[in-house]
Formats: sequence, C-alpha cells, structure tokens
Amino acid sequence: MTAEATQTMGFQTEAKRLLHLMIHSLYSNKEIFLRELISNASDAIDKHRFAVIADTALAEFATDYRIRVNTDAEKKIITIDDNGIGMSRDEVIDNLGTIAKSGTAAFMEQLSGDQKQDSQLIGQFGVGFYSSFIVADQVEVITRKAGEAVATRWASAGEDEFTVSEETRESSGTTVILHLKSDAEEFADSWRVRSVIKKYSDHISVPVMMPEEQSGDSEDDEGAEQAAPEWTPVNEAKALWTRSRSDISDDEYLAFYKHVSHDFEDPLSWSHNAVEGKLEYTSLLFIPRRAPFDLWHREGARGLKLYVQRTFIMDEAEQFLPMYLRFVKGVLDSNDLPLNVSREILQQNQQVDSIRGALTKRVLDMLSKMASKQPEDYEQFWDTFGVVLKEGPAEDFTNREKISSLLRFATTRDDVATQRISLAQYVEAMTEGQKSIYYVVAENHATAKNSPHIEALRHKGIEVLLLSDKVDEWLMSHLGEFDGKPLRDCAKGEWDGEDSDESAKEALEAAEQASEALIERMQGVLGHRVDAVRPTVRLTSSPACLTVAEHEMGAQMRKIMEAAGQEMPSSKPTMEINIEHPLLKRLDQEADEDRFADLAQILLDQAVLAEGSALEDPATYVSRLNKLLVEMSAH
Ligand code: ADP
Repeated sequence: MTAEATQTMGFQTEAKRLLHLMIHSLYSNKEIFLRELISNASDAIDKHRFAVIADTALAEFATDYRIRVNTDAEKKIITIDDNGIGMSRDEVIDNLGTIAKSGTAAFMEQLSGDQKQDSQLIGQFGVGFYSSFIVADQVEVITRKAGEAVATRWASAGEDEFTVSEETRESSGTTVILHLKSDAEEFADSWRVRSVIKKYSDHISVPVMMPEEQSGDSEDDEGAEQAAPEWTPVNEAKALWTRSRSDISDDEYLAFYKHVSHDFEDPLSWSHNAVEGKLEYTSLLFIPRRAPFDLWHREGARGLKLYVQRTFIMDEAEQFLPMYLRFVKGVLDSNDLPLNVSREILQQNQQVDSIRGALTKRVLDMLSKMASKQPEDYEQFWDTFGVVLKEGPAEDFTNREKISSLLRFATTRDDVATQRISLAQYVEAMTEGQKSIYYVVAENHATAKNSPHIEALRHKGIEVLLLSDKVDEWLMSHLGEFDGKPLRDCAKGEWDGEDSDESAKEALEAAEQASEALIERMQGVLGHRVDAVRPTVRLTSSPACLTVAEHEMGAQMRKIMEAAGQEMPSSKPTMEINIEHPLLKRLDQEADEDRFADLAQILLDQAVLAEGSALEDPATYVSRLNKLLVEMSAH
C-alpha cells in the first residue's frame, strides 16, 4: 500500500463537538465504551446473518459467529473483533466520520452537564462508537465488508481528523483497536474486562470470547501455544427470550431492556411469552419509564425488533403494534414468517395481523395489571404516555372498552391538574339519578376548571371531567359512552338538568316564559353573531355562555383544526343566558337601545373570552366596556 492511498479527512462539526465532549468530560463512567463496541459488533453479526439469507455466497463463517475481545497489558491495548458484515471504505467515512443522524442535535440539547447522566445518554442517541475516545487516545478500525476484497483502515486520535487507507484483512468483519489513555489502563487488564462483559453483554446472543488465561508456567512452553490462544466464551450467549422465564433473573431482563431500547433507565414493566399452536412466536415487551426524545415525531423510531427463527430481520418493525402503543419496546421472534420477509410483506400479512391483535391485548393487560398492582408506576406511565394512549379509542375500535378503563382524568373532585380519576371511579361516585358522564374541554386546566358551563353541575355536587389535552375532544367523540353511560360535553346541546331533576325543568320553563321579550331584543342585536339566544339553568354565577349543537364540533377542536390550517365551515354558536343574573335583569330594564346593544355585545364577548377563545374585534370590546365604566363612575 502506498502513502498516497492514505487520505486525511476532517470530522464533521457535530462529530467534532461530540468527540470533544467524550474526550474532555465523560470520564466518570468509562466502562460503557465496551458495552457500546460489543453492541455494535453484535449488530454487525446480526446484519451478516441476515445478508446471508439473500446471498448465500456470503456464508463465509456459517455458524461460527463470535466477538473476540483481547487485551495487551504491556502495550496498553484492548481489541474488539467481530466477523460481522464489516464496512466498505465509503461506509467507514460515513459512519465514523459524520454524524448525519437527527439524534445528535437532540443529544447535544439534552446534555445536562452532569457527567454520569450525560454518559448514559450516549448509547440512547446512537453515537456509541465515539465512546471509544473516553478511554483511548488513538483508535484504529480495520474493517472489510462481506463480499468485498479490500479492507479499510480508519484511524484517529479523536481531535479534528481521521485517516483512511487501504488494508488487508483475512475475512469480512471489523476489528477495533484502542490504545488506552494512561487513566484507562485498567481496560488492558483481562479480569477487569471480563467483569464488564459479564455485566453488560450476558444477554447478547453471540458469544463474546476472550483468550483462556495462561497458567503461571506458560512461559516454559513458548512457541506455537502462544500464537494460538484458546478462546473461551465469557457471556451466556443465548438469546434471552429463547430461555425459559423461570431461568431469567430480573437483572437480566433489565440489562436486555437497556440493550434493545438504548434507554438508561429501568422499564416500568415487561411481559415475556412464548406462544404455541397455529402461530408460534415469542414476544418480550417492555413499557419504558421515560419518553424517548422522538415520541412526537410521526416518523420517529418505533416498533419491535423482529427475528424469524432467532435470526435478526429488522429493527423498528412497526406492524406488530398499533400506533397508540408506539412507546412499547421489545422483541418479536416468529417461527412462521419467511426469513426473507420485507416491510411490504409485513404490511399485508394475516399472520402479522393476528400477532398484532394478540400483542395489543397483551400490552393492554400489562397496563391494567400495572394500574391495579403498581398504582404509582401506573401514574408515572400515565403522565408520560397517557396522551399517546388517548389516541387508542379512535384507532382501535375493538379494544375501545379495554382502553377506556385505562384512561385517567382530572376532574372537579380535586383541585389539581393531574389526571388520576378513572371512568370507573367517576361512575362509582355518580350522584343519585345522574345518567351521564359530564366533561368540559378547554385549552388549559384552569379554563376548564372555571368554565361557566359547569357551574350548575358543580353547584349540585355532580363531578365533571376537566379536559385540556389536544386529543381529548377527539377521544371523547370516539368513546361515546362508558359502562352504558353517555359522555356529555357540557358545552354542547341544551341542558335542562338531570332526567330526574324536575325542579330544573320547571325553572327552565319559567325562565323561557319570563324572558321572551328580552330574548327577542337580544337576538335583534346579536343575530349576526349567534344562532340563537336562549335562557339556561346551567349557569349559576356567570351571566352567559356559548354552546354548540350536540353534533357540531366543539370550540376547542375547531381552534385546533384552524391552527392546523384546516378550512372550517363557518358556524354560529348559541348564546345561553342566566336570567337570574343582575346584569341580565339590568339589561331587561334598559330602555336606551344603544346602551342595550352595548351591554348585550359585551355579554357575548365575555362569553367568548370565558371559553378561552379570542375575540374577533377586541378593540371594540374594550371601548364599549370603557364607555360603560366611565358612565358608571359618573353616577
Ligand atoms: P449506532 O451503532 O448507534 O448506529 P455508532 O456510532 O456506534 O452508532 O455506529 C455508527 C455506525 O457505524 C453503525 O450504525 C454501523 O453502521 C457502523 N458500525 C459501527 N461498528 C461497527 C462494526 N463493528 N461493524 C460494522 N459496522 C459498524
């Protein structure tokens, strides 16, 4: 190989920043570099196994996949070698010199300055290879891609540059050679390294081998023996999910979760099941404790790791769970799907549909169990993923009831915004004769809590669900009912008290008779802004509120749709008035038509404000109100 073939290149800006961080600050949890490099090697072997399915010519190693870790205490070197897929020259430059992943920027943003925490973030954002520079001041990578003849050598001191040159390598795979820094020499000690491998890599399905320890008298028989060390496995090397549940410790499950999810926190719960019968598969599903940074990107990573007969097929197989369970992590290993299965096939495969149905039930059951057995964990789950689960009833009609029992709401029962009350608890506390489950939707909790629409209900001691998540109105329209009780939006349709509440009906009738003249005058002034004006018994302290017809879109949903750029058909609300309110009594007696009009407009504008909507013409509202204030102070 000639000197000209060595190419020196600069790291990309993002990569440089990250490297700087690795080198200068993340030194409190050094050993994670080994977890990251072994994890990369194991992924590369999975990829090789998969590539062989399509192209049997690549089957160099047949069944002899392994990762070898070797240390040299004298030279202060640790080497991690795999016989996986390897990388071409271009891939090396792309993968190890550039960080094109969107995760990197997010990673940088999430850094807290706390080294321990920050180093744990590394794995999660898929920048694992760079953790080499926590312990090494010189890193070499010799790699040869399966199916290619030439190998590549990549080397860097982790500053600004790296070099790439041609190399030879006996067979495909990758060798990473770390020249340890003086404060990381412990990783040239094979016992230390063994213990780290056991800790992090027991569940990896590929054997991680280290040379058999030489006995003390090995110096006597120098020669052939030393050249070919005996490699023995350090880890268990059996895919965790293929083992029987009773043989797996909680710690092993936890370590495996961290491996599949790149999360550094323990999961809230998991479920491991082997299904036999018409369809045969094993699933291992985890409910995380934390939301990933891309939970809200529709394109974000989701889905399970798919294996077919223990062969890794793909990451993020999202066809096995519905969208509203996208927070679930784990593994699915099917015995029935073809090894050459593609995403396209997964999209329209009956087996996939049945597995999806079964896994969905399993997750929902897991959540029900958590809700009853580990209420505190469930609260944490709800605060993190509740909004996602709320998408469920719309997406998954069959499981609507199951999902509805998992929902939690803030209600008028408590003074706090936290969502803790289940629909079952609501129903249990319903007042005598109460037929419906009431809710009010607003932009935020305070607006919902203080909404005029629920005044009479509150007064009568009837509980109301206070909804302020964006999906809430949509959720309610898909739920329709719970336990045979209709869900009623307090701002929709007419309300004449509960069915058994005769006094409310009578009061409403009396109000209708008493207010005929007033209503007519008000409609004359406000007719262009409202559909109708009518008296109501739903208000006790506010003078007026706005409602829409039962079948119409509520004010909150309308705002959301408009904000999303949707053209909405214009619609006029109904203005409901509380004729017992002093302002309406005063209005009824107002002889001056101009002042009547001003007052009526102000009342309507206030009703718009109270539901959390914006006024179309706020300046006119202010000037009308000020006019009245001036008149008042003149008296
Ligand atoms: P991640 O593994 O999370 O993608 P890394 O920074 O650890 O991030 O690695 C970047 C990429 O480099 C990997 O996605 C993979 O394509 C490639 N790579 C790293 N190590 C190996 C290896 N041992 N064999 C083959 N490819 C590798």
